[in-house]
Amino acid sequence: MIVFDRVSKIYLDNSVALREVNFSIEPKEFISIVGPSGAGKTTLLKLFLAEEKPTEGAIYYDSTNIHTLNKKDINKFRRKVGMIFQDFRLLPNKTVYENIAFTMEVAGRTDEEIESDVPHVLELVDLASKVWNFPHELSGGEKQRVAIARALVNEPEVIIADEPTGNLDPANTYDIVQILKKINDLGTTVILATHNKGIIDLLKRRVVAMEAGRVVRDDKIGKYNE
Ligand code: ADP
Repeated sequence: MIVFDRVSKIYLDNSVALREVNFSIEPKEFISIVGPSGAGKTTLLKLFLAEEKPTEGAIYYDSTNIHTLNKKDINKFRRKVGMIFQDFRLLPNKTVYENIAFTMEVAGRTDEEIESDVPHVLELVDLASKVWNFPHELSGGEKQRVAIARALVNEPEVIIADEPTGNLDPANTYDIVQILKKINDLGTTVILATHNKGIIDLLKRRVVAMEAGRVVRDDKIGKYNE
């Protein structure tokens, strides 16, 4: 379980990014964090990944205060989290296979595991036919599916998707949302930050709405705007 306990974040230049944010996320939940630009969504995700420290309050993962961990344990914790970004962040000079294999190598997985898991995870995102292509040979939707496969391959407990459909057309957006739903159905917690109203209405899952650093709404089955 993830708990944000009265979390405030004031950056060094006195920008107030989060104000007394309180909410928790159950294991295997699918939660969308919505709100306009500047609402504090990215700050929230950065605090969860221990890339920034809260000014006040604490964030717990399975009862551990993330910001009390030492460097080694932070790295161990981060391996439980898979990240997906708006701009895909694939390595341009590596094939689809190599992009995913590289993530597994960094995590210390064996050659046997890599050979068996890469095709498997590409099948999960319906991209087995592109295994030897380079990123520039793929459409935006296909690139994002590779990025999702890469985020999944080390079997994270949580997937964080930060505006994952920001560069995609509606058809590809729909596909990516279906894949995120499938991942969630298979037992992974999904945290999706977005301001795409269409996605939220499509998902029919929990929505936490933020404005100016505060949680202004928390709906079990949310709509972007009531
Ligand atoms: P969102 O992801 O919802 O657009 P952010 O978390 O990026 O919101 O930003 C929330 C507020 O914090 C904004 O006012 C932004 O200008 C400010 N902010 C974000 N990052 C920094 C930073 N590194 N230094 C100073 N202010 C920041």
